[in-house]
Amino acid sequence: MAIISDDNQLGLGIKNKNPIIKAETIEYDNTFENSIRPKDFDSYIGQSALKETLKITLEAAKKRGKPLDHLLFYGPPGLGKTTIAGVIASQMGVEIRITSAPALERPRDIIGILMSLKGGEILFIDEIHRLNKVAEEILYPAMEDFTLDMTTGKSQTAKTLRIPLPKFTLIGATTKAGELSSPLRDRFGIIHRLEFYTIEELAQVVKRTAKILELEITEEGAEAIARRSRGTPRIANRLVKRVSDFAIVKYDGIIDKKVANESLDILKIDEFGLDTTDRALLNLIINKYDGGPVGIETIAAALSEDVRTIEDVCEPYLLQAGLLQRTPRGRKVSPEGYRHLGISMPSAQTKLFEDYL
Ligand code: ADP
Repeated sequence: MAIISDDNQLGLGIKNKNPIIKAETIEYDNTFENSIRPKDFDSYIGQSALKETLKITLEAAKKRGKPLDHLLFYGPPGLGKTTIAGVIASQMGVEIRITSAPALERPRDIIGILMSLKGGEILFIDEIHRLNKVAEEILYPAMEDFTLDMTTGKSQTAKTLRIPLPKFTLIGATTKAGELSSPLRDRFGIIHRLEFYTIEELAQVVKRTAKILELEITEEGAEAIARRSRGTPRIANRLVKRVSDFAIVKYDGIIDKKVANESLDILKIDEFGLDTTDRALLNLIINKYDGGPVGIETIAAALSEDVRTIEDVCEPYLLQAGLLQRTPRGRKVSPEGYRHLGISMPSAQTKLFEDYL
């Protein structure tokens, strides 16, 4: 399987343009990510429900001799959407073309890619919720009938040309399935949400990466890194690399529990995996807005970040960890969030929170 990346982003989407220095963005390094990307179902850890469904779908497509249905994967960044697309391509023995919606601004961008596809190939579009209307409309007949509908001439003399395309599979990835238009969403045969990983699964990711990088790591060391990886393999991998730097420079090179914990403390990644930005967000809501609710725009402005970064990168894990709560009137820090920061929750606030729940 060859991976052809049109914008050299390989599924990294907005993260390289992201102003927040988070674990996702430290040492943005495509080569590192690609060198450790699992290439088959066995090395793709976790997401067992997804893998089971996919194995059957792939088998059926192979038996029918037909390309796979279009697939949509959604979930927070770093959970393995690009990786699973690569695994699918390699299991099907086909090539994958990787691009992202912001790289498909002009109609000719999407037309060019569609026309260059060969039969059976996979087109992977990251951040597919950001496709513009024109690109979307070009995709509809391409996905449904494998044709390109091109209009030539103007008004009364306008003619529509139907150009046949090879049968291909579109794999879309998004952090925001809700922002996809329904006509586009309806054209995907399989829609699957990727889940955050358990500590055990992340420890496996850590051990696998350590093995590839030829690092010495103990079970407890792997678990300590896993615990602070926010349920996200990309973060686990970045942390392995950071901790290994500490292990080599400050210790004897072996990553055990003590080395992992001390290094991560120095990196200011706490035992929940929160970094300085996450804590700044929670502290802001508590100290300036009495624990919330407060609107996302206000939070973003106060932290000098853009709303999308807060929504896509910071929030999903804070919500899932139960530290933050989304209410119709804005974001609120939960009692767990107060506890985590070691701040006592005002009793009136506790009452309000309980009333809301
Ligand atoms: P996304 O496309 O969802 O942002 P990626 O597929 O780019 O995430 O994954 C980020 C990194 O995490 C990859 O380099 C890959 O090595 C690792 N990774 C993701 N999912 C898994 C998994 N299930 N098992 C092992 N490593 C994974």
